[in-house]
Amino acid sequence: EPSAKVIDGKLVAKQIRDEITSEISKMKEAVGINPGLAVVLVGDRKDSAIYVQNKKKACDTVGIISRESLLPEDCTEEEVLKCISEYNKDPSIHGILVQLPLPQHLNEENILNAVNIDKDVDGFHPLNIGRLAMRGREPLFVPCTPKGCIELLHRYNISIKGKRAVVIGRSNIVGMPAALLLQREDATVSIIHSRTENPEEITREADIIISAVGQPNMVRGSWIKPGAVIIDVGINPVEDSKSRRGYRLVGDVCYEEACKIASAITPVPGGVGPMTIAMLLSNTLTSAKRVYNFV
Ligand code: NDP
Repeated sequence: EPSAKVIDGKLVAKQIRDEITSEISKMKEAVGINPGLAVVLVGDRKDSAIYVQNKKKACDTVGIISRESLLPEDCTEEEVLKCISEYNKDPSIHGILVQLPLPQHLNEENILNAVNIDKDVDGFHPLNIGRLAMRGREPLFVPCTPKGCIELLHRYNISIKGKRAVVIGRSNIVGMPAALLLQREDATVSIIHSRTENPEEITREADIIISAVGQPNMVRGSWIKPGAVIIDVGINPVEDSKSRRGYRLVGDVCYEEACKIASAITPVPGGVGPMTIAMLLSNTLTSAKRVYNFV
């Protein structure tokens, strides 16, 4: 049976972290500073707390100094804005990340707008997204998950130029910027969302599929053109009585079916997830290098 090459995000992320570690030690020698990342977490969502912990741990491994502000679920917009404003002014902080989603009562737009664009390592400031969308403009930072998807394609020498790409999902944090990035790389891009008619037919045209939906096993074998490359961003818990926790994580793509048809595919877990954090570290280093003119 033909079987797709596994795109090993865990391995590539490790290589990238090693590269970042060595660059940071050179920078430390040259200018005497470590990059600094501030993480702002509002409320007590368990999943967000785990993501923040993982990001802090990753910072430690490469030599990025991380600071964390934990604000209570019921805090006001002013309190969040004050916290961001302090990090904006703090010269030891080169990146500011506001963990999403925010509690319902807070205005996400106002809060993301408050992050100094020079420290917007998540790339969610509208100016950075706007530049990403415009020809001839360069964003200061590109959102981490979509950037990680493209980086995987690059590191596996999968060419994008002229290819038909389909992005499933159009969220501000993954689907939309992923589509913009593919277009910047000269792919011809279609975007599928919850109102799309015949998503299967459209997806079957794709040489490259990036799926960021949040629906386990939505993309079946019949959706995939033979030889297509699949980047599965979805992280979906499904019940599994054999697992110690009672659940396991799967992607948006039915992995068993896809493996028989695709030429390459990212696993879940171990695909895009580790790349997202590696790109956050990379963006933070880039930001610090800009401040100190370190090349
Ligand atoms: P959102 O819920 O914000 O967006 C989901 C998108 O999928 C929407 O655009 C929605 O369409 C579309 N959609 C939903 N159902 C369908 C359907 N049946 N058919 C077609 N399109 C559909 O999710 P995110 O973008 O934040 O995340 C997507 C997935 O990626 C999740 O599983 C999340 O856990 C995972 N993720 C993984 C990361 C990583 O590091 N690996 C990082 C971030 C997210 P519409 O716009 O019409 O509502």
